[in-house]
Amino acid sequence: MRMSGDVETVLRGPAAYQVARKALELMESHHVWPTPLNFELWAHYVADPDGALAVELGRLISLGEPLTESISEDLAAAYLAKARLNEQIRDAGDQLSKELDSVSKAIQQAQKSNEAYGQTLAGASKGLTEAEGVDQVRAMVDSLSSATRRVQKENKSLEKRLADSTSEVQRLREHLEQVRRDATTDGLTNLANRRAFDEELARACAEADENGSALTLAVLDIDHFKNFNDTWGHQTGDQVIRYVASVIGRLGATPRFSARYGGEEFAMIFPGEDSGLVEACLQEIREEVASRMLKRRSTNEDLGTVTISAGLATRRDGESGNCVMERADEALYASKRTGRNRVTNGEKLATAA
Ligand code: GH3
Ligand code: MG
Ligand code: MG
Repeated sequence: MRMSGDVETVLRGPAAYQVARKALELMESHHVWPTPLNFELWAHYVADPDGALAVELGRLISLGEPLTESISEDLAAAYLAKARLNEQIRDAGDQLSKELDSVSKAIQQAQKSNEAYGQTLAGASKGLTEAEGVDQVRAMVDSLSSATRRVQKENKSLEKRLADSTSEVQRLREHLEQVRRDATTDGLTNLANRRAFDEELARACAEADENGSALTLAVLDIDHFKNFNDTWGHQTGDQVIRYVASVIGRLGATPRFSARYGGEEFAMIFPGEDSGLVEACLQEIREEVASRMLKRRSTNEDLGTVTISAGLATRRDGESGNCVMERADEALYASKRTGRNRVTNGEKLATAA
């Protein structure tokens, strides 16, 4: 289990056991299992009470909702992943500055050698004017040429050091890129994860404000998925999530943005598109998902079909991303209430209301 820097420090400091006990007490009083993940969440809650995670956990507690495992996982994905990412970036940054430090030492060393070489040359030129006889000149030329060879050798090794360092920096850059990709991608579907979605949504809202352009959001959810899992098992359920994600990813490719928002729920951003265009796209996704006869990979058994429901909402002037998501969610629930396997355009709901 890894924690973000500050909480890790607290858990190794004078208040360590007090914090840990308090976290366990709170877990017990809120009927939360003492799993490593939950401990990590509650240790943050106790050790960093003003942090974003503690605030969100506090909000959930005040709603009085049961803190289920899937809520814990969502919290971890949203808050702990970011803390871990920061830590990994810091590690890579440390390696990078070590690398640069050692290169700068090598350069200093080379400077010193070059200075010494300059002094040798100056000494030699003085010596040559005062030299008496061939032997003395020869000795001086010998020492000059060995000093030259020494400096050439050092310059070569500095060149090599710089070349090595360039490839090391390249490697670290690729590593950072990989860390960033891992932290923003959902492992099951390869779509963006919720954290990446939240960030992209904030970015897209700012961009829409700047350009005065439209922005529409959609939320999609597999229908009666619990039944499907209960009948066919979790692994086959995972295959279905992957299949639905592939349809969403194909129709929701750049400049659209698609994410796995939670278990069997997806969210999409449509920059520059109004609700009519988005509704058509969602209908296409819905029809494609519903039309496919699914087969179980391992046994080739017919699984029948699955359907999805969706809701969409278009951003109003200056509205926060969260508010648009809430309206898209309401539209999704309207789709669920009115029979599932359908798309509800939240803008039409609003006019009807
Ligand atoms: P509704 O039509 O109202 O959406 O019904 P539902 O059964 O799909 O919704 P509910 O929220 O009751 O259940 C969602 C189910 O999704 C529960 C859980 O077993 C399943 N689920 C969530 N995440 C995963 C996952 O990663 N893999 C699998 N196989 N199942 C998951
Ligand atoms: Mg569902
Ligand atoms: Mg759901």
